[in-house]
Amino acid sequence: MDRREFLLKSALMGAAATLPFHKLFALGQESPFTTLRRNVGTFVGSGGTIGWLVNKDGIVVIDSQFPESARTCISGLEDMGDAAFDMLINTHHHGDHTAGNPAFEGKVKRIVAHENVPDLQKAAAERNGKEALDAQVYPDTTYSKTWTTDVGDETIRLTHYGPAHTGGDTVIYFEKANVIHMGDLMFNRAHPFIDRGSGASISNWITTLETVADEYPADVIYIFGHGNTDYGITGDKSDLMLKRDFLTALLNYTEKGISAGKSLEELKAVETLDGFEEFKAPGWRLPLSANIEVAYAELTEDN
Ligand SMILES: [Zn+2]
Repeated sequence: MDRREFLLKSALMGAAATLPFHKLFALGQESPFTTLRRNVGTFVGSGGTIGWLVNKDGIVVIDSQFPESARTCISGLEDMGDAAFDMLINTHHHGDHTAGNPAFEGKVKRIVAHENVPDLQKAAAERNGKEALDAQVYPDTTYSKTWTTDVGDETIRLTHYGPAHTGGDTVIYFEKANVIHMGDLMFNRAHPFIDRGSGASISNWITTLETVADEYPADVIYIFGHGNTDYGITGDKSDLMLKRDFLTALLNYTEKGISAGKSLEELKAVETLDGFEEFKAPGWRLPLSANIEVAYAELTEDN
């Protein structure tokens, strides 16, 4: 450790005792917390982006990442005000959005998700063995099409638009802040994970992105589950339309190849789709070939 680094570390450690957690980061590190509009923001740790609302009547958290980052997020939010945690919402069942649920147990009044989430979460955990199964904390409040609640002066609306990234995706709208959490319906400019085994549908994912872009105000700020590091995890309607265009191009590419008599192996031998080169994001481990495989299955299998 050089002297400068030592001084910085000492300053941070000294400051830790006296400064609220979230202010600590301002000294030397980038804060994992970002306020977007009004009292709604993001937390970036490990796993899918966490969204939060903090007002004088309660704290609402969207997605829980993993146990350690969930605890970091909880202490940062507790430092922002005196309100108690109201609820946790899971955008869908994947582990990088729900593995931190146990950190919220006993803190929140309820964990809310689409009605398909508990079963999908359980089935995924079962595939990972007993330890994974025992570690699950499931949503205890579920809904079918839409679910609305008020926390203080904010109205929060959850909507399920049918199968897309999984069979249990939720779009969460903070009405007053005019912010939407898209969960993994948005991998911003990155090849997405399409969980066909959990009920995903590329064609309805395309429809969902169009519906959302039409249905909500044009100036909504969107939070994305994941994003290309060059572009980030928040954006606007145009980012949704680009994802729609990518998914459309994916189906078209695959369909054309099938019509031309190409095998799946031949179709998979590309790294990017024309016009979507930046979707091969830096450090991103999901390859386009996995997307093509799902598109192929969706186009050739009965369901
Ligand atoms: Zn996911």
